Amino acid sequence: QSSLNDTISQGLSFFRPKDTAGNYHKISDYFGENTFDIQTAEEIPDSIREEINEVINSNAQITESQAQIVAKAVTAWALNKGATHFCHWFQPLTGATAEKHDAFLDYDYSTGQPIEELSATQLIQGEPDASSFPNGGARSTFEARGYTAWDLTSPMFLIGSGQSKTLCIPTAFVSYHGEALDIKTPLLRSNSALGEVAKKFLHLTGETDVKRVIATCGAEQEYFLIDKAYYYQRRDLVMTGRTLFGAASTKNQQLDDHYFGAINERVMAFMEELDFELHKLGIPAKTRHNEVAPGQFEIAQIFRDANISADNNHMVMATIENVAKRHDFEALMHEKPFAGINGSGKHLNWSLASDTGINLLNPGKEPHQNYRFLAFTAAVITAVDRHAKLLRASIASHSNDHRLGANEAPPSIISVFTGSTIEKIFKAIKEKSDFAPESQEILDLGAGQLAKLPKDNTDRNRTSPFAFTGNKFEFRACGSDQSIGFPLTILNGAVTSVLEEVNHKLESKINEGTPVDQALLDVCHELLNESWNVIFNGDGYSQEWLEEAERRGLPNLKTTADCLEYLVNKDETSFLTKHGIYRNSELETLYNVHLEAYITKREIEFNTLIGMVNQHVIPAAIQYKEKLTNSILASKSCKVEATVEKELLKELQFSLEGAFEQTRNLKNALSDLHEKNSEEEAARKIAYDLMPVSELIAQNCANLEQIIPDDMWPVPTYFEMLFCI
Ligand code: ADP
Ligand code: MG
Repeated sequence: QSSLNDTISQGLSFFRPKDTAGNYHKISDYFGENTFDIQTAEEIPDSIREEINEVINSNAQITESQAQIVAKAVTAWALNKGATHFCHWFQPLTGATAEKHDAFLDYDYSTGQPIEELSATQLIQGEPDASSFPNGGARSTFEARGYTAWDLTSPMFLIGSGQSKTLCIPTAFVSYHGEALDIKTPLLRSNSALGEVAKKFLHLTGETDVKRVIATCGAEQEYFLIDKAYYYQRRDLVMTGRTLFGAASTKNQQLDDHYFGAINERVMAFMEELDFELHKLGIPAKTRHNEVAPGQFEIAQIFRDANISADNNHMVMATIENVAKRHDFEALMHEKPFAGINGSGKHLNWSLASDTGINLLNPGKEPHQNYRFLAFTAAVITAVDRHAKLLRASIASHSNDHRLGANEAPPSIISVFTGSTIEKIFKAIKEKSDFAPESQEILDLGAGQLAKLPKDNTDRNRTSPFAFTGNKFEFRACGSDQSIGFPLTILNGAVTSVLEEVNHKLESKINEGTPVDQALLDVCHELLNESWNVIFNGDGYSQEWLEEAERRGLPNLKTTADCLEYLVNKDETSFLTKHGIYRNSELETLYNVHLEAYITKREIEFNTLIGMVNQHVIPAAIQYKEKLTNSILASKSCKVEATVEKELLKELQFSLEGAFEQTRNLKNALSDLHEKNSEEEAARKIAYDLMPVSELIAQNCANLEQIIPDDMWPVPTYFEMLFCI
């Protein structure tokens, strides 16, 4: 069944280049060799690089002649690397990436000979058919024409193996009327909005030489690996990305022996090749390790510009999937592939960095830097508090619903973890008790002492959805399968809106003659008074927190069906429209796409489950039933009591009937779901009525799996998938 042996016989090896002396090259020798970055490419003259940076910084249009130079240079570079095709690579609202390949081919019309070419226009703009991508509300308001527009800030890269490679040009995807049909466009807008207010904030606090501030991001990606042979035997994995039923194996993660455990050799060979491919793509993959659940792993990259990081994360997911196949694995990126053990998330590490080297979430060396740090941190906390519903909606998906609140991932209540040191300081600022003895110690020494605040002072609270971890915030509730671009956009937007307000306050206080430090403290005090309720440093998994959060009035949006409506609630979204990050029509599109995706994906799950029960589980149960009844009859004719068979038959019959009946109920409920309900009602019905039915079916299947002999069970088990790799 398993292809494990094949892989071992292939020697677990992959290609890694050696120098002429036969020594392996260092990472730095091949890092970025499959990427073409305008910022570093030797093929681009410095004068053009400067011009293009001007274009980027001023949000202007690149000229035809500038594009021409880049097109020529990148074509020569790509052809030299064995490329035959190019494509505009973009992120439609499916949450995945899209690409349509064109050959580097044209005619020289004077000679009639074929030539390799990528024109300036082909580089700048593409024209995919927008109607075939999710466009939600766009159905009525948008035309079918859509455009992809080159994102000058994200490096181009080569994909494909062997002799024919494809040059990918990162692009934004917009409709004929300039409405965003993708994830990247709003992200870019949010980056520039945030960059501007953050620059102003730094100027106000005395850092007048700052020219540019960017959001930085480093994503940690979790995933499962299973043997490919098992994958294709489970229709649910192929169709829905998760097992829709399965009995727990006797040992799973209760011994905590997988997390950071020694990496098995076959997985290690995969990880080595994965890192090699990512490094060639210029993606700074840094950390690799076993995760909590059996068969679960993580990769993290060094943080960088949020837009590039969001692109990188898509490339990381695609590379994991491709390299896994080369090793006869199948990588599962789904948030909850297996019931009863941890699912996979994605931690979005986030901060702001200035071109002068300031990390706004780094407590500084000087007292005044600490006031700035405290005020900025309070602004982020306030942003999370004010826009908790939208942040929750930004990570909502049918699959992430299985994680949030399942006591393995942060709960669906959005709160902020600060660590106890910062909480103490904040408490003093909030209560103006900085004049009270104990807290004064903290603050007075505070400024100096805080500077030495060791990074790891922020303990590892795994139960918080949004945690301060020393010099960055970590949005931990994101799903493993999601594009980080969307939560990043909402977070950027939320902080932009609070920071703009902070700037106004600071400006008027400073104009009134308040010293900057005092102004920062005053603002910090106001912010903390407003948002104190969102700070929670306790155990997010506890029942007490659920109750406490309710008392505090924090929203607890349990399922995707509960949070999507906020995407089109103007009270909740005005901060996005005000800062030009989303238009109302785009939010409507987004809402429709997400709602439709939620319903459709659940329907696919339900139908797959019904099919598997009818075609796999029930036939296996009947087959075993037949064996048991035959044995009972045979026993009778031999005049022995078939007590065991009769007991087994009873148990079997009970779960078989359960599976059959519940499946029929589910099928009936699905048949008129759309007739009887609006889309919104259908989503809620799915979340609150049909999901529990599907879980009952799964329970009956798991019971049957434990009764029916192993060789008669029709699909691979958790034991096989999680432990035989
Ligand atoms: P942890 O176990 O604390 O989460 P990891 O090493 O797994 O640590 O991940 C930390 C992530 O945070 C890395 O991707 C790292 O690059 C990123 N990171 C560190 N500093 C910043 C920053 N200033 N802005 C954004 N991301 C950061
Ligand atoms: Mg982390």
